[in-house]
Formats: sequence, structure tokens, C-alpha cells
Amino acid sequence: MSTTATSTAYDHLLELLEEEAVLNSINGLLGWDQETMMPTEGAGHRAKQISLLARLSHERLTSSDLAETLAVCEGEIDLNADTEAAANVRAVRHDHDRAVRLPATLVQEAAETASAAQHEWVESRANNDFKRFLPWLEKTVDICRRKAECFGWADGGEPWDALAEDYEPGCTAAGVASVFGPLRDRLRALIAEIGASGRTPDARLDSLELPLDRQMAFCLEVAEKIGFDSTRGRLDVSTHPFCGGSHCDDVRMTTRFHDDMLTDAVSSTMHESGHAMYEQGLPYAAFGAPCGNSVSLGIHESQSRMWENQVGRSESFWKFATPLLEKHFGAAVAGIDARAAFESANRVNPGFIRVEADEATYNMHIMIRFELERAMLTGDLSPADLPGAWNDAYRDFLGLEIVDDRRGCLQDVHWSMGAMGYFPTYTLGNLYCAQIFETACEEMPGLVDGFADGRFSGLLEWLRANIHGHGRRYSPGQLCERITGKPVSADPLMRYLEGKFRPLYGI
Ligand code: ZN
Repeated sequence: MSTTATSTAYDHLLELLEEEAVLNSINGLLGWDQETMMPTEGAGHRAKQISLLARLSHERLTSSDLAETLAVCEGEIDLNADTEAAANVRAVRHDHDRAVRLPATLVQEAAETASAAQHEWVESRANNDFKRFLPWLEKTVDICRRKAECFGWADGGEPWDALAEDYEPGCTAAGVASVFGPLRDRLRALIAEIGASGRTPDARLDSLELPLDRQMAFCLEVAEKIGFDSTRGRLDVSTHPFCGGSHCDDVRMTTRFHDDMLTDAVSSTMHESGHAMYEQGLPYAAFGAPCGNSVSLGIHESQSRMWENQVGRSESFWKFATPLLEKHFGAAVAGIDARAAFESANRVNPGFIRVEADEATYNMHIMIRFELERAMLTGDLSPADLPGAWNDAYRDFLGLEIVDDRRGCLQDVHWSMGAMGYFPTYTLGNLYCAQIFETACEEMPGLVDGFADGRFSGLLEWLRANIHGHGRRYSPGQLCERITGKPVSADPLMRYLEGKFRPLYGI
């Protein structure tokens, strides 16, 4: 038995993975095109293109060729070794086993239901008609439970765990709940103190109407200054900003603009730049293999949030960006200094809508969704009772009376897509982000002050070395402990939020 990573079988495995990744990357490009360029009438044919490529990719992942090659590799490579080859083989085993555990009929049923349910969700939301969406939600929950049964979960676990594995490997509902509990209590107290402070930050920057082409030029320059490589990616516009593309050399991200609310465009752009710079930092040579891929949605989100919040919502960043504001907008931004821009970007306002939420209240929206989807999957909450449970949770968590389902339980696309077990990755991303950034600040004194002089490359290089360059070599939990020395907890995020909002609101 050999322990080298250069066997013929291993090389063949890498070839198979690369082919599958090329197919997926074509799909990535089609998805980007659909959101940015495609004429509306192209939707029908595009759906066929995307589903054919998805099927071909799935066939490769579940093929007997791959299964046999993988088994040979497992005999040849020491799977416990801390090597790239061992990590790749372990990850392919994980992905292959999950893919074959789902019967093709269930995969098909889930895809067809998701397609129809998303359409019904759009109509139901537009018409504020939960009753119309209910049968689709019931069907989706049923499919998710059947998928969970196929995957299985550990002793003492629950169906939610089986589904979350696709988004955040190793994540369990019990583990999430143990971190979310203390976070909720401390956030609730902070939000209440902010509300009672009576202080209103300077919002002038977001009341200015600014030409969209100049907003685009400003945002692109900011993205490039923080490290986005425009020779290996693009910035375009879409209704819902996202980052996709096909390869670390061809990353496609989008942003959105309003006539006013420049800080929304900046935060969207910096958020997607964080995702894009992670993708651009993945190891080129490992393309197709797990070690050439990102770890999890939570770690991905930690990167986007870091550039959006820890960098882009810092006063130091706005000291750097204020001269750029003048360069792109001239007299229109007269009187807006770094302090005013910083305050505009950090207004706290409990609201109904998750995607419009500020840093202090955002995680409350996620915790509500986590509790509700967990209860629907265990059967403790019937989908028919979702609106009432949703409204109770908003009253409890944020002190808000939900006025209609459109701005309540019908606001998010995720459940209609069959994505249950997904939402907590947003808050996990914020937790990882704060914890990792705290370590970065300890290891690089003066890091935040340097942003004022446009010094962002130190942070990016540190993230490349500690996260991007590893691909999927370590699990999210392992990565967090390797970098910070501790498992993920609520403490760093609360230290960060309290450190920012207490002085800002005089509390
Ligand atoms: Zn994101």
C-alpha cells in the first residue's frame, strides 16, 4: 500500500472532478447571464440548458467510474494524513455518498417542485396571499423531510442537521441553538438600548440623489482598491446582488443602485467583492478538486461580511473613501465628511425586511427563520400555522407588529427553493467573521487605522494565507479553530457590535 498522492487512480479522480467542475462552471455562467443580460423570453430555454448541465454533473458525481476510482484511492492514500490528497478523497467520498443516497426520482421531484413553488411564491408575495403558497410550502417541507430521511443524521440529532450538511458541513441544530441563544439575549438588550438612546445618526449621505453611472464608477473603484481584480472578474447590476461565475479567473459579481442610498450600493458592492475575492483567491492548480473549492456558505459569508462591515462600515474606511466621493460626485457631496458617511452607514432601525436590516438587527431575522424551519421539519409547527408563529416571533425578538405576510413570512425566496437548513449560514458567517477579524487585528496591529490610507492588501493577503488558499482542506469548524484557537462563539460579534454602537449611540 502506497501513501503517495500520485497514483494513477488519484490522477484519474482529479480528471473526473475537473470535468464535473467545468460543467458546473458553465452553469455558473448561464446563471450570471440569466440575472444580468438574458432577454426575458429566454427563460424557458435557459431552464433546459441549466437542468441538462446539472443532470450531467450529477451523473458524473454518481458514476460507477468515479465510485470505483474513489475506492481505489481510498486503498492507496492514508486518509488520516494532513495532506491535500487525503482531504480531497475524504471530501469526494462525502459528496458522492450524499449524491447517491438521494433517489433520482426524489431529485427530479424536488427540482420540479422548487421551480413551480418559486413561481407560486412570487405571485403569492405580490398578492399578499399566504393561502395560495401554503400547499407549496407543505409539499416543500415534505420533500425536505424525505431528503433528510435519505441522508440520515447522527444519534441525538434531527432532520434539520441532515439538510444543513449541504451548506455548512458538520453544523447541527443543537450546535447552532447553543450559540444563537446567548447571542439573541445580548442583541435584544443592545437593540433596546439603542432604541432608548434617542440619538439619530447623520443620514445626509443617503438622502442625496446621485447619478447611477457615477455610483457605478465609484463602487467599482472601491472594489478594485480593496483588492477585487477586474482582469479576473466583472461587476454588473442585478435586482438581487450576487457573486457567481465560472472559475477563479472569471468571477462575476453584481450590485444594485438606488437614486439615493449610496451606502446601500457601497455595502452591496463590498459584500459581493468579499465573496469575489475569496473565489479569486482559491488555488488555481486545484480547480475541480475539493481543495480548489470554498469551504462552506458560512465561511463564504464571513468573507463578504468582513469587507462589507468590519472594513466598509468603519470610520477608517470612510476617511479613505471621502476623497473618492468628491472625485466621483463633486459638489453634490459637499459637506459630507468621513464622520457623516460613517454614521449614514451605521443607522440601526428594527424593520420587517431581512435584506434591508442593519448589523445590529440582522441576526434576529435569521434566528427567527432558524427556529421556524427547525420546528416545521420536526413537525412541531404545521406550515398552516407559519404566519402566526412568524408574527409572534417578530414581536418577541424585535418588538414589531407584522402588518402583512408580504412583509412577513412570504418575504424570502429560500423555502420556496427547497433550501431549508440554509438561513443560519448568514449568522454563522457574521460570527466567523467577527472572530476571524478579531484575530487578524491582534496579529496585525494598526490594521483598521491603515484602511484610512487605503491599506487593504495586508488583510487580503492574510485571508488568502489563512482561508482562501486552503480551499476545502479543513472543515469550517477546523478552520475557525486553526485561525482563532477557539470554536465559534457569540462573544467576538457582540464585542464588535457593542464596540461600535455604544459610542455611536452614546450608550
Ligand atoms: Zn453573501
